[in-house]
Amino acid sequence: MVSRTQRVAGTLRLDTAVKFLKGIGERRAEQLERLGIRTARDLLWHLPHRYIDASTVTPLVRAEVGQEVACVGRVVAKGVLPTRRGLRIFHAVLRDESGVLECVWPGQAFLDRTIAVGQTLLVSGPVRFYHGRQMAPREFVILADAETDAEPLAAGKVLPVYPATEGLSHKVVRGLVDRHLDALIALSEDVLPESLRRSLALPALPEALRAVHRPGTAAEAEQGRRRLAFDELLDLQLMLIRARTVAKRSRSGVAFTLRRDLTTRLRESLPWELTEDQHRALREITGDMTAPDRMHRLLMGDVGTGKTVVALFAMLLAAENDFQAALMAPTELLAEQHAATLEQLLAPLSLRPELLLGRQTAAEKQAIRARLSTGQARLVVGTHALMQESVSFHRLGLVVIDEQHRFGVEQRAALIGKGAAPDVLLLTATPIPRSLALTLYGDLDVSTLRHRPPGRGLVRTAVRTGGQRERVMEFVRAEGAKGRQCYVVLPVIEESERADLRAATTMAQSLAARWPELSVGLVHGRLKAEERDDVMRRFRAGQVHVLVATTVIEVGIDVPNATIMVIEHPERFGLAQLHQLRGRIGRGEAESFCILLPETEPADRLYAFAATQDGFQIAELDLAERGMGDLIGARQSGGYEVRHARLPADADLLARARAVAIDLIGADPALQRAENQKLRERAVGRYPRAVELFRVG
Ligand code: ADP
Ligand code: MG
Repeated sequence: MVSRTQRVAGTLRLDTAVKFLKGIGERRAEQLERLGIRTARDLLWHLPHRYIDASTVTPLVRAEVGQEVACVGRVVAKGVLPTRRGLRIFHAVLRDESGVLECVWPGQAFLDRTIAVGQTLLVSGPVRFYHGRQMAPREFVILADAETDAEPLAAGKVLPVYPATEGLSHKVVRGLVDRHLDALIALSEDVLPESLRRSLALPALPEALRAVHRPGTAAEAEQGRRRLAFDELLDLQLMLIRARTVAKRSRSGVAFTLRRDLTTRLRESLPWELTEDQHRALREITGDMTAPDRMHRLLMGDVGTGKTVVALFAMLLAAENDFQAALMAPTELLAEQHAATLEQLLAPLSLRPELLLGRQTAAEKQAIRARLSTGQARLVVGTHALMQESVSFHRLGLVVIDEQHRFGVEQRAALIGKGAAPDVLLLTATPIPRSLALTLYGDLDVSTLRHRPPGRGLVRTAVRTGGQRERVMEFVRAEGAKGRQCYVVLPVIEESERADLRAATTMAQSLAARWPELSVGLVHGRLKAEERDDVMRRFRAGQVHVLVATTVIEVGIDVPNATIMVIEHPERFGLAQLHQLRGRIGRGEAESFCILLPETEPADRLYAFAATQDGFQIAELDLAERGMGDLIGARQSGGYEVRHARLPADADLLARARAVAIDLIGADPALQRAENQKLRERAVGRYPRAVELFRVG
């Protein structure tokens, strides 16, 4: 009788469930599922997350105090040690040919059930001194269960290490992949046209897969990874370029005419000259708006680089063509602020923008809606209230969205849908490196404002240690006495969250007691939005002098008289976040000061931060510090996961993927031709958003 597995083996396909593969039963299949492996294809694409070889592994005796190292050794002793403070520490002693090293896992007594004497472990982490050298591993991998099946790390030989899970060790995963690798590779098809692949000097897909799973050398594994990274970036760019084409495809297509009426009058009445960057951005925007294609552009610039006035020119270009323009901001405070700015700039033109907010009375809103639907009102600023169903426009020609990432795709679409085919200008105060911009915003055209207007937005940044806290606080008080306002930023709201960190509530209390002559306000994420707005309004009005806050203080909030920012525990913040915070000061004529007060010995990163105010440079530092995954995954909505590519290191691959995608979509917009069919299928399979974009018809 033929067994079930044999029968299935004859018809092995990439979408065969893993439980039908040899050596995998129901139980293993369940464990594999925890790693996201359901089909044979998933197993093939379960790639090593790191490689080790003799050159990257430090012999145990050479693991020095103060270093971060990776070591491999056999467990010769282990156990759980209680400490005086009641913490239970799991410890294991590793031995290799060079000697021994103790490893400790404080508070992880449960590891006693996982780690056994005789196993070979890969450990990596910092080495410190505590009755001798000790490593506190950040990561460990059980490479082998018994000495007999441990593979020696020979010079030049590379060992792939696989992501594993409880009950399913790296060793088992590796064994399973290895056992089925040849059969699975034989089933995978290279959809990249041969000629293209050769011109890019990348290995064929089967070769690349073999190289990442069974590399002869580290260089080989890297070549394989780059091929997989290219495919992934190409799919992403195909989708983004396609999205850009779809978004631009003019429906009723407004081609505005440069009438030089309102725009010229604004230019003549401005109290200052536009910067080079502003001129360039305006040329790009005007180019888009006067073309029959729809504009779909992102204006990226740090706080204080002058995005608002650029947006206003675009709005006036629409208005002088008898179209309406709407500017939507994520909060009432920001909307009010924009309205006030526009009002001021438009006063010489005898134009007034409308302001539509959720908290206005029904009668007020009704009146504004009426003026919008008749076309009597040409410019409007507002919040989410703008995209409400009850709002309709007479002829909406331009939509500007500030802090665009704070709105969901559908929200933006809801406002844009109120026009026939309005041009779209998105604003963001989060500068990102070019490599990232191409993956995140590859479907948009991007204009950047890199430099601030001369003499504007200058902030002197200083790093001071705990011992100098008193002097810093005296400085704040002296500036307060001169009428200046100050932000004090802390990482947590209450001490109960983290006993080792200074907290906003306690700080606000102690400053209020200490400076009875100054009014101290407090804002944090647990206050109701109205309460928070109220404190912020009083701060803006100068009634609150010192604002103690967590990171909730709005991006873009403009209080020119606030010239000081003290940041406690800056070591707890990412560089991009510190930069965003610092952007709240330096908004007036007076010199501004940002003072970082780290708890511990300040690290180089803080000095690097203090040395520059260029948001793009800081974004590069931030990216290098935190890596791509973090940036794209959690923080940026609308971002796409990139698994194999490493940016910015793979920037060259990204640029080539983009160029190839532009060529392909240019010649065959929906990738319908027979030779592009497979490429389309793969992109659609990888990125759910592509399904919609490539649906033809
Ligand atoms: P952003 O929105 O990019 O943070 P704003 O548009 O609020 O920046 O501009 C910051 C400040 O700089 C505002 O007070 C604005 O009036 C001023 N500003 C804008 N452009 C110029 C310029 N070309 N020269 C001088 N000041 C400018
Ligand atoms: Mg702004």
